[in-house]
Amino acid sequence: LSITAKRLGTSGDEAPTVLLLVHDVTAIAEAQREREQITAMASHELKHPLTVMIGNAELALEMDTLEPRTRQRFEAIVNASERMLTMTNSMLSLARKGFTGREDVDDIDLRQILVDSVQSFRPTAAANEVQLDLRIDEPLPVIADGFRLRQVVDNIVSNAIKYTPRDGRVQIIGSIASDSVSLTVRDTGIGIAADDLPNIMTPYFRTAEAKQKAGGTGLGLGISHEIVSAHGGSLTIDSEAGVGTTVAVQLPRSGDAGRRTSTKAHS
Ligand code: ADP
Repeated sequence: LSITAKRLGTSGDEAPTVLLLVHDVTAIAEAQREREQITAMASHELKHPLTVMIGNAELALEMDTLEPRTRQRFEAIVNASERMLTMTNSMLSLARKGFTGREDVDDIDLRQILVDSVQSFRPTAAANEVQLDLRIDEPLPVIADGFRLRQVVDNIVSNAIKYTPRDGRVQIIGSIASDSVSLTVRDTGIGIAADDLPNIMTPYFRTAEAKQKAGGTGLGLGISHEIVSAHGGSLTIDSEAGVGTTVAVQLPRSGDAGRRTSTKAHS
């Protein structure tokens, strides 16, 4: 039950009037729990077969005797399965009750995460004929969960490429201030209409334009926002339909120059 009490005020010596609103929210809570259970179960059931597919395709790729075309096919299997695994992990993260967005914390350099992430997206950007520019001048020390931050960076960069038409440009800028480090990802893509902007981090929400342009789950930004918030930071989006989008992440900087980068795998 959800109970709300509201005092309606008094006149003179009369006893105060109080309005009690009692809502039965059992059905809503049950539907929510059921949805969480189904998502978690489906995600678990999908993870194992995907891991088996990736493992076997990678083993096949180790054979020296593979013809180039067969090699390309196995590589396509690995890439597609890895994308599915990432999506599955996102669904699982969101469905999990105890998801904190910040588990294995370490003293790390966000610059290294940006370099690694951008490197991994170069082939996709080239295939989409999108120019990818990275500009970071200094180390970006943060005390953070490196695996989760990589997830955030991958998601933002992948969106920027995905929603930018041919011949467009994606700029990734890392910078440091006295008490914070920032990441700015700017694209010249399809943009987001002003009406859609407030909903953009709601799980499963996707704009009509995005649905037309590319596939997706509508989960990435919501998860990224949770992860950044869990680190005491902020994630803001500025966009104009048909012109482009700028996503900015700000995190508290650590006093240290960042000793190592940890991107340990956990889900
Ligand atoms: P997905 O990309 O899987 O749909 P996200 O949660 O990452 O999910 O993003 C939610 C929605 O926000 C997208 O479907 C799209 O409508 C919009 N969006 C996110 N990034 C961009 C971008 N760089 N340019 C245009 N639209 C974007």
